Amino acid sequence: GIVFDKVNKWYGQMHVLQDVSFRVAPGEKIVVCGPSGSGKSTMIRCINRLEIHQSGTISVGGIEVNDQRRNIDRVRRQVGMVFQNFNLYPHLTILENCTIAQRWVRGLPRAEAEQRAMLYLERVRIPDQAGKYPSQLSGGQQQRVAIARSLCMEPEIMLFDEPTSALDPELVREVLDTMVSLAEDGMTMICVTHEMGFARQVADRVIFMDRGRIVESATPEDFFQNPREERSRLFLSQIL
Ligand code: ATP
Ligand code: MG
Repeated sequence: GIVFDKVNKWYGQMHVLQDVSFRVAPGEKIVVCGPSGSGKSTMIRCINRLEIHQSGTISVGGIEVNDQRRNIDRVRRQVGMVFQNFNLYPHLTILENCTIAQRWVRGLPRAEAEQRAMLYLERVRIPDQAGKYPSQLSGGQQQRVAIARSLCMEPEIMLFDEPTSALDPELVREVLDTMVSLAEDGMTMICVTHEMGFARQVADRVIFMDRGRIVESATPEDFFQNPREERSRLFLSQIL
């Protein structure tokens, strides 16, 4: 699981995470939402130390996320991350995108890495695209490759940062379906998304952030039907 205990982060004078505390149990699915600039990306990027928090503690699977290289490596091995803009290597094929980290980080032989890559490309339903380059795929397919590539590292936790917001509307569903199926398999997930249908379908809890704070943390039912905070209500009225 993941534990945040009074985590704070500043960019210069700007206090972007303010005493953020929460826990995610193994197998739990959390949806994080909130206005632009509220600190959602910063918060999840602190989990695998793509951003560095300045006070409080974060731990992942019992390992504290701090400046020790060994801890950072151990945490990153457990955590997969999928971004808005896919971030595939354009000069590598889909198959190579899915094998490169397995070979260089995990030291697996090519055949084994390719076998696992094909398994996960099948899992996201695009095994037939393995020989193509990212530019030859639709955005939805590219994002599914990004998910498969993460899964190849066999993470225990998956973080998603607005994985569908760069996609044309007709391609959103295929990516959400992939995420739903991961959720059904029991993956621990933190998803920053404004796809509220997805939140209703899979989230155990919705965390609403505003100005660097967790303002509300509730089941999707409570959050949508009965938001306690005025800011949550305002936010929901704008996106629903
Ligand atoms: P969005 O919905 O637009 O993605 P967000 O909730 O993910 O927003 P963050 O990207 O976490 O918000 O940003 C939180 C605050 O920190 C914002 O005010 C942003 O301008 C600021 N910020 C983010 N990254 C940096 C940076 N590298 N340097 C300085 N300020 C930053
Ligand atoms: Mg963001």
